[in-house]
Amino acid sequence: MKFETAAIHIGQEPDKETGAVIPPVYLTSTFAQLEPGQTRGYDYTRSGNPAFDRLGATLAHLERAKYATVFGSGMAAVTAVISTLKSGDLVLAEENIYGCTYRIYDKVFKKFGVTISYVDLSDPANYAEIARQKPALVWIESPTNPLLKIIDIEAVAKAAHDAGTELLVDNTFASPYFQNPIALGADLSLSSTTKYINGHSDCLGGVVCTNSDDWHEKMIFAQKAVGLNPSPFDCWLISRGLKTLAVRMEQHAKNALKVAEYLENLACTTSVNYPFLPSHPQHELAKKQMRGGSGIVTAVFDLPFEKTVRLISNLALFSLAESLGGIESLICHPASMTHASIPKTAREAVGITDGLVRFSVGIEHADDLIADIQSSLSNL
Ligand SMILES: *Cc1c(COP(=O)(O)O)cnc(C)c1O
Repeated sequence: MKFETAAIHIGQEPDKETGAVIPPVYLTSTFAQLEPGQTRGYDYTRSGNPAFDRLGATLAHLERAKYATVFGSGMAAVTAVISTLKSGDLVLAEENIYGCTYRIYDKVFKKFGVTISYVDLSDPANYAEIARQKPALVWIESPTNPLLKIIDIEAVAKAAHDAGTELLVDNTFASPYFQNPIALGADLSLSSTTKYINGHSDCLGGVVCTNSDDWHEKMIFAQKAVGLNPSPFDCWLISRGLKTLAVRMEQHAKNALKVAEYLENLACTTSVNYPFLPSHPQHELAKKQMRGGSGIVTAVFDLPFEKTVRLISNLALFSLAESLGGIESLICHPASMTHASIPKTAREAVGITDGLVRFSVGIEHADDLIADIQSSLSNL
């Protein structure tokens, strides 16, 4: 079954009892038992609900994984994975990871003896660090946030496996429509379903996909024992959003490429990052492991701080907001927003300067989006 068809049909069969084409959402915390201890498959929503299973079935298929466990947010999915580690374990991460992932390691799990080290894994020379440091887990994102570096998933998975460890890929930015980390050799593919997968900016969710029975058991355990479960209604919303992922991603990618080309030709930008622009330093690798460039574009403006702030505040169609991956365009200033929790020196060391602006290009008409940027620039 092709992606578009699976997104609509897998896990979303009409309701057996009534024939309702859209399966109902069971807004219940608990389920009546037939006899003490004998359930109809569900006992308490923290440890399972039909809406979790439906969404999980669709996501596992689309991520080309055997299993998908759903969580209350992307950070809940992150917590589920880290909660399987023990004191003394080391995680080796790509140096450019999501701000809140950096923060949860630094401010929460460090206290419990889980440590993290950062390496630039866009440079194959650094793969040797995996064998040298012997981490319990290797943690990467690709494309990275917000600089859109591309990490060679297949090569890092091989390096991790050769060193006897495992690889997690945060697949939030690419979405399963454009990239399948499990098929490229990763052990875990994690996503914030809040972003492209739901796509409508109206709820939060997360997912961890795997082929491993052992990891699947650990994720199910974390969902119920740590209390990281999503709400059934949010799963129903995410299932609804997911059905149109293919058409949305096509439009996001088409618009993003046009916006990136426009920004690249402006005199006031010093660099523009988009994996499917030929000028991207890893364009060939991007084309090898992704089927499209997704909807995020970052640009460095050669403007004083106040003018950069005015540029992004003046836009009418791009809302100034955190998050990404919704149908509506958003704009973000990482240094003062998503990455504000990372110290300035650490931030700048990985290229997040004050002039850096991240566009989450929506599915409006590209001409309107470009006209909006043009109009803001002419009113600085
Ligand atoms: C948003 C995001 C997360 C966290 O997801 P939430 O749903 O906001 O908790 C994790 N990783 C990446 C790459 C993200 O963009």
